[in-house]
Amino acid sequence: MSVYTKTMTAQQIKELEKKLVRFEKRKTPPYAYYQYKSSECVITAYTSGKVVFQGEGARSYADITSACDDKIAEYFPQAGSDEVGTGDYFGPVVVCACLVNPADASFLQELHVTDSKAMKDEVIRQIGPSLCKRLTHSILILNNADYNRVHESDNMVSIKCKLHNQAYVHLKRKANGLPASIIIDQFVQEKSYYRYLSGQPEIIHGIHFETKAEGKYLAVAAASVIARYAFLHACDKMQQDYDFVFPKGAGKQVDAAIIRFVEQFGKEELPKVAKLHFANTKKALSL
Ligand code: MG
Repeated sequence: MSVYTKTMTAQQIKELEKKLVRFEKRKTPPYAYYQYKSSECVITAYTSGKVVFQGEGARSYADITSACDDKIAEYFPQAGSDEVGTGDYFGPVVVCACLVNPADASFLQELHVTDSKAMKDEVIRQIGPSLCKRLTHSILILNNADYNRVHESDNMVSIKCKLHNQAYVHLKRKANGLPASIIIDQFVQEKSYYRYLSGQPEIIHGIHFETKAEGKYLAVAAASVIARYAFLHACDKMQQDYDFVFPKGAGKQVDAAIIRFVEQFGKEELPKVAKLHFANTKKALSL
């Protein structure tokens, strides 16, 4: 068993505790502020300022928990999640959470995996299958009919929080646990994220929230690419089913497509392919 010790200020020890919420809190030993346990490490913070990491993962936990945000990006294994489709009138919302192990990092770099918004759809279609094959991941697809039903009582942010959490719950099961480093491309404040999740049967804690994380963390980048790949796939399927081209985004082309779609298939079919609450619906159908 390895042991790793660090000296920290009282303030740092307080900050560290915030990062340990996902761990099991144990009875506080004498002369200590707190003690937490994960499957790979026991962390004890003493009033002397000494923080002791004990167990298999001692070294990496010591590094991750005391690293500044810039450094976390370089730690693997790393889990990340991202969503796509929230700005597209047609098609589902897709969330992916995936795990990147140390050996996967160079594989992803060789494929030039980065934020899916910065990658061409043709490239995503090409590399999507090998990413899905190589990385442990979980994809959630909220189809339009379900989305419109849920959206009657839940806003988009709340829906996203639940999907991200659920994706991590699935990933945890598939990977037999989650790594110390988990990152969400931030779309909401951390406090609000957990408020939206209250009442959920299982809640994943210990997540690092950061904006523009897709460009910085390989796990978030890979999740964004897999999510986009699944989104493109779902849109292809819609196109085949209706023999109709659904434009991406929410611009003028979409307004024109709504009119054509309703003429061809009727209004009652629209909730199955579109996010009805977008302003495009009213604009196109002048309701
Ligand atoms: Mg994002």
